Amino acid sequence: MRLRLTNTAESIVRAGHPWLFADSIREQNREGKVGELAVIYDRNDKFLAAGLFDPDSPIRVRILHAGKPATIDAAWWQARLGQALSRRAGLFDATTTGYRLIHGESDGWPGLVLDRYATTLVMKLYTAAWLPRLEEVLAQFKEQIACERIVLRLSRNIQALAQKQFRRSDGQILFGAPPEGAVIFSENGVRFEADVLRGQKTGFFLDQRESRAAVERLAAGKKVLNAFSFSGGFSVYAARGGARLVTDLDISAHALASAKRNFELNKNYPAVAAGRHEMVQADAFEWIEKTPARFDLIVLDPPSLAKRAGEREGAIRAYERLNLLGINLLARGGILVAGSCSAHVPAAEFFDAVRRAAMKSGRKFIELKTLQHPPDHPAGFKEAEYLKVIYLRFAT
Ligand code: SAH
Repeated sequence: MRLRLTNTAESIVRAGHPWLFADSIREQNREGKVGELAVIYDRNDKFLAAGLFDPDSPIRVRILHAGKPATIDAAWWQARLGQALSRRAGLFDATTTGYRLIHGESDGWPGLVLDRYATTLVMKLYTAAWLPRLEEVLAQFKEQIACERIVLRLSRNIQALAQKQFRRSDGQILFGAPPEGAVIFSENGVRFEADVLRGQKTGFFLDQRESRAAVERLAAGKKVLNAFSFSGGFSVYAARGGARLVTDLDISAHALASAKRNFELNKNYPAVAAGRHEMVQADAFEWIEKTPARFDLIVLDPPSLAKRAGEREGAIRAYERLNLLGINLLARGGILVAGSCSAHVPAAEFFDAVRRAAMKSGRKFIELKTLQHPPDHPAGFKEAEYLKVIYLRFAT
């Protein structure tokens, strides 16, 4: 199918932006089917770009290719995958077997994520536009990446359509035998389980690897609180770093049960075996406000507090409030590790909200560092920047 765009959209696509919203389409030669290749021409009838059409999404086309005309065939897909793989060459040694191989738009695979957990690959789709091309893409994965199995995960909004039109379901095994229980992988030598069939995202928050390693270096001798702990990622690192006590706090019993197993998996490290591990199942916002406990290091990494652009200001206030509550639980010399995964809250605004909370606490503090996207989760355009973490140490 052929499309023509508004002038503004034309310049946006020309500048390399991967999303084309429905209201930027000025002309469409016919009704498009999900996943069909949309070819976009500019006002002079020259080829501008090609992308995946999605009639059910406000992001109507996800750009695959812009610039010179190209044929999107097997060789093209092969090269595109090769680019994502070579970008990661040499980033990880054998102590890290869990990381992202394809990070959606920013790797040129709009709406598609591919994570590796040891010998299991998990492909997660955020747009139905990939469904008609699944076999084609799968063939490339099998050819270029050594693996035992490939699992399909579907974002909630496309599950019904995937089932009805394509007989695909969330957690379906696309290749190989189903895993026997959770998949075990390692990250910097720490062993973790991932529930690749049902867990959040693709089973684990691979994006926080570097922030977890930084926590390990800061944890010796400390009492640590990991709020919104999920499966205890930050906690096991803290324990290996010599934390005296680690408390996991999460609203989900399922997440805490996984955290417990992740501790067990690492008992071979004397520091993990020696440290205490506690778990609290509660609403973290309420618990943090009421607890009399004090900690030397607190990790606050809540789920996204802004699901829509319109929720940005409220989210910034919520981050400030949550982090002030956290700071109030810090003992003298304590460290706050504050994270945000809201794409609608820019890093600078989040960092300022946490600094404001620190100022309001009336305590002296220094900023240790900030972290954003790790290299296996590149952010190639503004809307893709969601991850940020700030570390503050309170002198008093
Ligand atoms: N820091 C984690 C990822 C956090 S994901 C990691 O590095 O792996 C967000 C977690 O917050 C989920 O496990 C979810 O169960 C939990 N959660 C969501 N709302 C919560 C609430 N109100 N109180 C406590 N936990 C909550």
